Amino acid sequence: MLLREIKNVFHAELDPLYDKEEVDSFFYLLIEYFLGLDRFVLAIQPHLIISKENEEPMFEALSRLKLNEPVQHIIGKTHFMDMEFVVNKNVLIPRPETEELVRWIVGEVAGQAFQAKSGPLKILDIGTGSGCIAISLAKHIPEAEVFALDVSEEALQVAKENAMVNKVEIELVNSDVLELESLDIHFDIIVSNPPYVRELEKNEMQKNVLEHEPHLALFVTNENPLLFYERITGFALKNLKIGGRLFFEINQYLGKETERLLRDHNFSEIEVRKDMFGNDRMLRGIKVHKTTAL
Ligand code: GLN
Repeated sequence: MLLREIKNVFHAELDPLYDKEEVDSFFYLLIEYFLGLDRFVLAIQPHLIISKENEEPMFEALSRLKLNEPVQHIIGKTHFMDMEFVVNKNVLIPRPETEELVRWIVGEVAGQAFQAKSGPLKILDIGTGSGCIAISLAKHIPEAEVFALDVSEEALQVAKENAMVNKVEIELVNSDVLELESLDIHFDIIVSNPPYVRELEKNEMQKNVLEHEPHLALFVTNENPLLFYERITGFALKNLKIGGRLFFEINQYLGKETERLLRDHNFSEIEVRKDMFGNDRMLRGIKVHKTTAL
């Protein structure tokens, strides 16, 4: 079949389910992955013929896309901060908003906003999943010692693989932040993108997220949506150094509430930032006082 015809089949079958541009991007990702062809191939070789054998993985991928499977699961990887990350059903697929959080942290470190008083800068990522935050911080702040914690052993396996793929060293910790009292280490930075989607927001979600991404990483109850933020803030009061910084990715509808949580616990220089879509998405606070636990 002509490559151009395969593209037409993709559009015929998937346009009712996805945006046209998204279907284009699926198609180009898949021809690159399965056939080693770049996205300009059709402009250069409009009559390129694909053998039956090579067609097959393309059509198999098409049927998986029809079942709302994320394209990142089909090709087993994605990009984040210009790095490649392995993903599977055990981890959240890294989002572009989360890159903005990482850039914020990298910018503050580069701007010498804070430095470790002695030894390397110590950073902890809580609920690391694929490891995208921890690993990209380790890459961009090579002098830092980065720890990545997750309750899921399967997720840590993915994070471990990603650290290897990206040639950085991070310390993996298998622990449940809800049970975690304190650690022996004191950190300069604690960052987390914990579960924050309320059950009531499920109907706003795309099928490919809802049906294929880990609910453990996504959902909180309607009644107690800040549970993880409360626990992590409590942990940060004990395990951040004075002057250390806490960074969160947050639920766009709960910016004020999450900000208040940090204010109530005496964090200073609290700032909420919007993501590229104009939603409240990130929060930072600095620990100033020696405070007792929550
Ligand atoms: N932003 C993610 C989503 O769109 C949720 C991430 C999270 O719960 N930490 O689904």
